[in-house]
Amino acid sequence: MPILDAYAVIGNPISHSKSPLIHTAFAQQTSQAMRYEAILSPVDEFQKTVTAFHQQGGKGLNVTVPFKLEAYAFSTHLTERAESAQAVNTLQFKHDEILGDNTDGAGLVRDIETNLGISIASKRILLMGAGGAARGVVLPILKQGPAMLAIANRTPKKAQLLQQQFAAYGELVSGHFMDFSGESFDIIINATSASLQDAIPDLPANIFANGSLAYDMMYSHEPTRFLAFAQQNGAHNLADGIGMLVEQAAESFFLWRGIRPQTKPIIAQLKTHA
Ligand code: NDP
Repeated sequence: MPILDAYAVIGNPISHSKSPLIHTAFAQQTSQAMRYEAILSPVDEFQKTVTAFHQQGGKGLNVTVPFKLEAYAFSTHLTERAESAQAVNTLQFKHDEILGDNTDGAGLVRDIETNLGISIASKRILLMGAGGAARGVVLPILKQGPAMLAIANRTPKKAQLLQQQFAAYGELVSGHFMDFSGESFDIIINATSASLQDAIPDLPANIFANGSLAYDMMYSHEPTRFLAFAQQNGAHNLADGIGMLVEQAAESFFLWRGIRPQTKPIIAQLKTHA
């Protein structure tokens, strides 16, 4: 029996995670000698659990709620995108080095541009939310050269802090959702966790430009309340976060194995069976 390189996703809770299914499919598709499991870590034992996995020969981890900030602090080296997100969703172990990366933003950008075929360059973008997910996507979005990026949050101060942090990278404004009444956007991304509570941020109805894309990072069987609202108010394209989930996984896989798996069949499979 060949020894398989070991990878895993670590979180709490973890049983809902689709990462084992996605990475196992990637490994089969690209003939990689690897295995991938889900690890439930006690909330106060992240470092201990990661160290044990590493000592047993583990090569890399995906990190999910609630450990992305701890993974950032635990990394000995960081990629630029992890540094700017101040959060890590991917760890790679190389000898004594622990590389921390954040692939969420690359996953979102690839889903919008490659899978949905919508270019970000020169577009007016509204990013809703200022939590971990929003922070991870600001720099990757700005690197695509949008005309402007507005960051709106229920607590405007947090959006303002993001605006200040990334001011050098592009045209940025921030505020409360209602501050953008009367302005319209080509791409509106919901990076709040409102959809998890079956809620919708307090949004002006007139923000969706003709032909706009409404993107909810959350995914579910039924359209979220945000996507339903966007459709009622003129958004032309609607997408949930399944594509982002698979694309951020593919980006981690590429970091670990140096091979880019095909994502479209897995996205189609998850959309049918999720
Ligand atoms: P955080 O807890 O870090 O941030 C939550 C954000 O949502 C804050 O900006 C908060 O505003 C806002 N918020 C919460 N409830 C409401 C509400 N009722 N109305 C308006 N705003 C609200 O969460 P994350 O950033 O980690 O995750 C956000 C979403 O992104 C989740 O749905 C998550 O599932 C999804 N996600 C999807 C991924 C994918 O691959 N598809 C990857 C990562 C995340 P305030 O600051 O005022 O509290």
